[in-house]
Amino acid sequence: MTHRLNGACHCGAIGLELTLPRPPEEEVVGACQCSFCRKHNARTVSDPKALARLMVHESAELQRYRFGLSASQVVLCRRCGVYLAMLMVEEGKAWTTINIDALDERARFTRPAEARDFSGEALEGRLERRKARWTPTELVGWPEEGG
Ligand SMILES: [Zn+2]
Repeated sequence: MTHRLNGACHCGAIGLELTLPRPPEEEVVGACQCSFCRKHNARTVSDPKALARLMVHESAELQRYRFGLSASQVVLCRRCGVYLAMLMVEEGKAWTTINIDALDERARFTRPAEARDFSGEALEGRLERRKARWTPTELVGWPEEGG
């Protein structure tokens, strides 16, 4: 049985769906120790057996931010400032780790957040780990790269 969760930024310009293979109460909650996630005190979820959809309803409000090794991009709403996800795109495929607090049912993620520190990792290992552990994601209404 799958568990479908809805989310969005605050103003609704960017929507989010996450279909989990198990209840949110059983999902591992991550506390990424990267400098961006720490400034947001973000709790994140990624499950390779889940499916996510990121839906851009107003493409002018999509903000992407890269830092560090630039292996991924942060997805933010330009208008309301909500941080939705970390996104990696490679050869037409996309993977995300989702900011739990952008989901409507954020309170159901009750497991304690586990600190994750990948700062010592080489770029190649990082890409392989993400493909194995992040959530396959469909990008809907996504503008071309460069914005
Ligand atoms: Zn917004």
